[in-house]
Amino acid sequence: MNGKLYLCATPIGNLGDVSPRCLEALQSVDIIAAEDTRRTLQLLNHFEISKPLTSYHEHNKREKGEYIISLLKDGKNAALVSDAGTPAISDPGEDLVRLCIENDIEVTSIPGAVAAVNALILSGLPTRRFAFEGFLSVNKRHRREHLESVKSDTHTLIFYEAPHKLKNTLNDMSEVFGSDRKIALVRELTKIHEEVKRCTIAEAVDFYAENNPRGEYVLVIEGANDTDEIEENDWDNLSVKEHVDKYIAEGMTSKDAIKKAAQDRGLPKRDVYNEYHRE
Ligand code: SAM
Repeated sequence: MNGKLYLCATPIGNLGDVSPRCLEALQSVDIIAAEDTRRTLQLLNHFEISKPLTSYHEHNKREKGEYIISLLKDGKNAALVSDAGTPAISDPGEDLVRLCIENDIEVTSIPGAVAAVNALILSGLPTRRFAFEGFLSVNKRHRREHLESVKSDTHTLIFYEAPHKLKNTLNDMSEVFGSDRKIALVRELTKIHEEVKRCTIAEAVDFYAENNPRGEYVLVIEGANDTDEIEENDWDNLSVKEHVDKYIAEGMTSKDAIKKAAQDRGLPKRDVYNEYHRE
């Protein structure tokens, strides 16, 4: 019988955040695949867990993926841990999960910290709808293309960022998103120097022109303003009657024109119909 892969979330700073289930799983498996074996060894030593470790990272994921799958097919159980936090979030874990699924190997998760979600809930920005964007490219053109692609997104946006790239990223964000957008720069989560800086992108650019970024960052950015999108609608300044007439003039039947105008405005068809036929 095949073994099982345990996706084990480990702390993103504070070792007190490790869960009893995570420790139990790490104790019980036959092998632990780690993104950074030295870092994971420190965690294991702290909790006096002694287990065979194997590295699994971006540069060896193909061969190591096959190796881990062969062990799982031999009936061994394995745990996957990332550098910090939840595996398969901005690390190659997703490839191993896919391989397991292709090979009919059971995968289970042991939940724990994710930097993105903790930064979001501390940001003070809307949490109801958000988009996780991971890391931006170091390549300026790709980075700009990525930012352009989410410029009009109304979801709160979440990016991971390394300190040495922060200034360039903020400059690009200021140019693409505009300097007035709100941003929360969340750094060193769960650690002694945990800090949340809530300001506009312009204020963040000014601050980091004078101060050097330190530690690990999550950037949480206000989504595009809904009104920006509405301004782009060519019916925005029309009355309901003018709106319906516009579609009729374009060749729609009055029934279809009322339906379409109602959809555009997010109104019930009946309301648009009544308004259109009002004396
Ligand atoms: N798998 C991890 C998770 O669950 O969040 C993320 C791994 S990703 C390779 C590493 C990035 O996560 C860092 O560059 C940083 O943007 C963010 N990060 C991780 N730990 C953090 C912390 N304690 N405070 C702020 N950001 C952190």
